[in-house]
Amino acid sequence: MFTGISHVLDFSMTSNLLFENIKNIYRKISSAAIRSGRNPFDVTLIAVTKTVPIERIKEAVSLGLRIFGENRVQEAQRKIEYFSVQCADCKVEWHMIGHLQKNKVKLAVQLFDLIHSIDSIGLAEEVNKCASKENKMQRVLIEVKLSEEETKQGVAKEDLMGLIRAVSSMKNLRLEGLMTMPPFFDDPGLARPYFRELRELRDKAERSGYALPELSMGMTNDFEVGILEGATMVRIGTGIFGERR
Ligand SMILES: *Cc1c(COP(=O)(O)O)cnc(C)c1O
Repeated sequence: MFTGISHVLDFSMTSNLLFENIKNIYRKISSAAIRSGRNPFDVTLIAVTKTVPIERIKEAVSLGLRIFGENRVQEAQRKIEYFSVQCADCKVEWHMIGHLQKNKVKLAVQLFDLIHSIDSIGLAEEVNKCASKENKMQRVLIEVKLSEEETKQGVAKEDLMGLIRAVSSMKNLRLEGLMTMPPFFDDPGLARPYFRELRELRDKAERSGYALPELSMGMTNDFEVGILEGATMVRIGTGIFGERR
C-alpha cells in the first residue's frame, strides 16, 4: 500500500494538505518528546478518524499512518471491515477511544486492538467475557475522570485502584495503562495539571506493583503538554484531518 514518494506527489491539493498536517504533527511530537528528555518513538500517534470518510483514511494510510481511533462502534465497524478486506496487508490498528456501552462490547472486542475506555468493573467483566468467547487477549486502558464536567466519562480517581486490581485479575484482559480527557481549554497549559495527575496516579499504581506503561493523553489542542507530562499515546483528529463537520 505504501508506494513511496512518487505516489505522494500524485496527490491532490487536499492530500498535500493532509501530508503537511501529518508532518507538522510529527514535528511537534518529536520536539515535545525531546524537550522532555524522551525518545520521539516512544510516543504513538493515534489518528482519530471519527466522521472521516474511508477515502480520506486510505490517503492517510498511504502517507504512512497505521493506528486509527474511533469513538463509535457502528461507524468504526464499516471502516474496519473495509480495511480488513481491502487492505489486509496494511496492518492497520484500530483503537476504541469513546465511551463503550455494554450492548456494544461483543462487537467492540471483535473489532478493536485496544480499548481506551474501561471505566467500571461491570464493563471490564463484560469485555473479559466476550474476549474469552472470542479466544482473544483484549488490550485495554482504564479511563480516569479527573474533571468535574458532567459530559466526561471515566472512573473516579477514588475508585481507580480497585478497578486496576479487578481488571488485572481478569484472564482475557491485558491492562496496559491509563487514559484521560481533560476539559477543553483555549490555553493548553491549563490542561497540564490533569495530565500530571494522571501520570502521578499511574506512578502510584506502579509502586503498588502494577505495570501501566501507557498514558493516553492529549488531543489536537493539548498533545504537546500531554507529552511533556509523559503521554505515550496522543489522539489527534482535527490536527490531521481538519475540522469535523
Ligand atoms: C475526538 C476525540 C479526539 C480527537 O480530538 P481532536 O481535538 O480532533 O484532536 C481524541 N480523543 C477522544 C476520546 C475523542 O473523542
